[in-house]
Amino acid sequence: MFKLTNKSVIITGGGSGIGKAMAVLFAQQGAEVHIIELNDQAAADTVSEITAAGGKATSYACDVSNQQQVIDTFAKVGKIDILINNAGIAHIGKADTTSTEDFERVFNVNVKGAYNCLYAAIPALKANGGGIILNTASIAASVGITDRFAYSMSKGAIHAMTLSVARDYINDNIRCNCISPARVHTPFVDGFIAKNYAGREEEIFEKLSKSQPIGRMGKPEEVAALALYLCSDEAGFITGTDYPIDGGFITL
Ligand code: NAD
Repeated sequence: MFKLTNKSVIITGGGSGIGKAMAVLFAQQGAEVHIIELNDQAAADTVSEITAAGGKATSYACDVSNQQQVIDTFAKVGKIDILINNAGIAHIGKADTTSTEDFERVFNVNVKGAYNCLYAAIPALKANGGGIILNTASIAASVGITDRFAYSMSKGAIHAMTLSVARDYINDNIRCNCISPARVHTPFVDGFIAKNYAGREEEIFEKLSKSQPIGRMGKPEEVAALALYLCSDEAGFITGTDYPIDGGFITL
């Protein structure tokens, strides 16, 4: 079950956190993983970990918000079976405390970055007879987390993008879904706490963990397992759907 033997998979932001866990798991399931990353050292480290375990992986330094870089990088990769739009950045602020610069920066990475990858990948997926697209959104898109105005909006755009792409390419044998994690313990969360709550790291970590009904943050490996299922042949009947993975955050 859930084998990805010889599937060519692009994972953006695959050098850290959720993307890294996906890269490691997908390679274990036989995929050839292509990590597209701003942080080339983190990407190279992930590739070393995968290849040391006998898997196949390559890294490409690329800023997903730069369309030409994305087009050039996807051309280097060539055949694609699966695209995972996972790279993302966070921002704290409400509508009246978010600067235009910060608003644009969040949208450039979280929304335009995903669009750039779709633009480059879809012709390659079609040429290949179809494929799978998985987008990493967030529960912020459904509940509008306090003080995450631009971030929540950007993830809402990912929900709409998922529906649009699923509908537009259903006859091209392309499935498109998204996943919406609540807080997952990754460098993304650690960096956020360190930046905004210096000296109170443990207290805030505890508070954020307990704010989720299940009483803890998710693990990147748990999110990767859901991604693997959605990108496997076993999920062939699933498209245009958002999957919360949230310890009960939305429903309880
Ligand atoms: P992370 O910061 O650990 O990893 C994100 C990776 O994306 C980093 O390696 C970073 O270098 C890369 N990246 C950032 N901007 C980039 C760009 N312009 N081009 C290429 N690569 C870029 O974060 P994570 O927690 O693993 O988050 C991954 C995704 O999951 C993000 O889209 C995030 O919004 C989403 N998410 C995370 C959480 C959480 O609690 N961790 C919750 C919901 C959604």
